[in-house]
Amino acid sequence: MSRLTAEVVIVGGGPAGLTAAIALASAGVETTLVAKPPPLPDHRTSALLQDSVKALDTLGVWQHCRNDAAPLRVMRIIDDTARLLRAPEVCFAASEIGLDAFGYNIENRFLIAALEARARELPALTRMPDQAAAMNIAAAQVTVRCCGGAATSARLAIGADGHHSLCRTAVGIDIRSRSYAQTALTFNLCHSREHHDTSTEFHAEGGPFTLVPLPQRRSSLVFVVDPAEVSVLSGLSDAEMAAEIERRSHSILGTIEIERGRGVFPLITATATCFGTRRVALIGEAAHVAAPIGAQGLNLGLRDAATIAELVVAAHREGQDVADTVDRYDRMRRADTTSRMLAVDLLNRSLLTDFLPLQGARAAGLFLIERIAPLRQAVMREGVSPWASQPRLMRGEVL
Ligand SMILES: Cc1cc2nc3c(=O)[nH]c(=O)nc-3n(C[C@H](O)[C@H](O)[C@H](O)COP(=O)(O)OP(=O)(O)OC[C@H]3O[C@@H](n4cnc5c(N)ncnc54)[C@H](O)[C@@H]3O)c2cc1C
Repeated sequence: MSRLTAEVVIVGGGPAGLTAAIALASAGVETTLVAKPPPLPDHRTSALLQDSVKALDTLGVWQHCRNDAAPLRVMRIIDDTARLLRAPEVCFAASEIGLDAFGYNIENRFLIAALEARARELPALTRMPDQAAAMNIAAAQVTVRCCGGAATSARLAIGADGHHSLCRTAVGIDIRSRSYAQTALTFNLCHSREHHDTSTEFHAEGGPFTLVPLPQRRSSLVFVVDPAEVSVLSGLSDAEMAAEIERRSHSILGTIEIERGRGVFPLITATATCFGTRRVALIGEAAHVAAPIGAQGLNLGLRDAATIAELVVAAHREGQDVADTVDRYDRMRRADTTSRMLAVDLLNRSLLTDFLPLQGARAAGLFLIERIAPLRQAVMREGVSPWASQPRLMRGEVL
């Protein structure tokens, strides 16, 4: 048995792993983060809902990146299909539920840089800039061995190592995955017209086409298409793509210029059969992968990070084994994750279906939301903040 080098070891330095590491280390829990610096900057953006922003603010991260983020004050959904039963346009305004903004949109590279800057300030956080190669789970500890030969042992391992999680495999948790016949193209744009802090989602037959504001006259685009269209669209020059985007967005943002850093992501949904067992807890995409529709993925991942950190800090302060929190963590995160993943899945399928009654149900649902203000407000409140109890960091409380 090797000597414990930390109380918690986290594998994976994406946004979920870094957030968990900061939450634990800033509360005085000795934490090791096994994470290699990313090889390339991530040009994708994340729309972070208010609670996620509050948690990052409470952890001292948000001040490092707030100037790089754009507020999301209005969300428009426009039915851009040529179907018989089309939904009315629906507009959600944050001011209707007393909020200044639903959240903020930020490029992942700025978010990661802000998390890294905060992580460097924490003496209780030790970095191992390497890739985990193997994990051994024993009765009283878990040991992570890195590709470079170094090892670290702790009471609890947090797997934040993404969709192909080594931690998940090591502890024997299965994952149920499903691929959609859809691919998301992503890139950022400059445009000649103001976005007025409004995100616009065009619902087309192939999937949503969503423009989300970035600072100044810039927006990010998640453009979900049939995989057959990908090679044609990917072959377009920047000027041709700009013209195509302007056409599909009905010129609402004026003339378009494409920025470098195009991404292609086949759409999948996946959920681990359990979010933690023995001495391993899974967070972020190691536990669940949502299709990039409705901005749920990282918001769920940050709630995972805030929840496991809260449980571990409480156990640590009471002198308990911090791995005893794992079953409770699993129970606490399951309902929220399952319900949101289901909502994303249903929204996406209702767009793809040729089944007229389902198209009708979707149109009727959006019609009711558009017409009935209390219903619309309830949908907005639940979208921003789940009714189930929120982790303390997301209520702005320091751990
Ligand atoms: C097109 C697109 C748009 C999206 N938009 C949004 C949005 O607007 N809002 C939102 O909330 N979510 C969004 N998401 C989802 C969001 O991007 C993900 O939920 C988030 O990036 C997952 O973060 P993570 O830290 O869990 O995993 P990752 O970002 O995948 O990080 C995992 C890390 O672990 C590392 N790693 C893997 N294996 C090992 C190992 N063996 N040892 C050490 N390190 C390892 C990897 O290198 C990586 O750095 C979007 C996703 C896509 C595809």
